[in-house]
Amino acid sequence: MPAQPSLPDVIAALDALWPRERAEQWDAVGAVCGDVANPEARVTRVLFAVDPVQEIADEAVRLGAELLVTHHPLYLRGTTTVAADTFKGRVVHTLVKNGVALLAAHTNADTADPGVSDALAGALGVRVVGPLVPDTTDPAGRRGLGRICELDRPLPLAEFAELAAARLPVTAQGIRAAGDRDRLIRTVAVCGGSGDGLFDAVRAAGVDAYLTADLRHHPASEAREHSPLALVDAAHFATEWPWCEQAAAQLDALADRKGWDLRTYVSRTVTDPWTAHAASVASPTSPASSTSPVHDHTPGAPN
Ligand SMILES: [Zn+2]
Repeated sequence: MPAQPSLPDVIAALDALWPRERAEQWDAVGAVCGDVANPEARVTRVLFAVDPVQEIADEAVRLGAELLVTHHPLYLRGTTTVAADTFKGRVVHTLVKNGVALLAAHTNADTADPGVSDALAGALGVRVVGPLVPDTTDPAGRRGLGRICELDRPLPLAEFAELAAARLPVTAQGIRAAGDRDRLIRTVAVCGGSGDGLFDAVRAAGVDAYLTADLRHHPASEAREHSPLALVDAAHFATEWPWCEQAAAQLDALADRKGWDLRTYVSRTVTDPWTAHAASVASPTSPASSTSPVHDHTPGAPN
């Protein structure tokens, strides 16, 4: 007969999936709040989400979850207050008052096998070949940051960008792409979250395209000048949300094996901070893109 697991047992199982010691030095992963050492504390429902924001804390309470697992940490730097008049303190109060523990799995989930970028590759339907930046402590060579992937059949960049737009969560940004729209994409490096620090590895991998989030002007511009590498930029949230489904499935499988009476939930709330998008409109005074003309000014042609 399945039994409700204790909070320490569930957290230990999740820590085994994403060992805390594999997080980056600057990161703050693990339990943020909750009675995590109490063997009497039971878990019946676990909610997975990207961001530990108030909307998600409220969702966990409405659901009756005893554990909220987020990818992003609530606190990354030292703090001197958890008072409820700060937005993070209010999140802590909401969770503690309602008996919800919070666990963050951030860069330890990025480098895991499977990790955040495996989930991203899975959402895109591309086949993972190996890590983009391998973790040198993994003899199997499967852990690490980002993933190098192959497409089942080559797609022009424009179609690959449309595929990403269709497969990833809907956000205001949508998908931006850089490069020749007809360039055939056979191989792609993917990295969930902000990936513009990995351009050296992407170039070394010799892939046709790089899909990540938060690409800034200078790194993107320099990468384009260096090589014909195509860039596909999605919203940060959109590249990491698929991990929530992967993580929930991992906990489901664990619960089955251990005979735990436990339900997992994935938040469908979009917590991307950007909420609106206006497409550029050409005007006589503004510079216009040379690659996507809005109007063809052929002399003598009708409008
Ligand atoms: Zn992130």
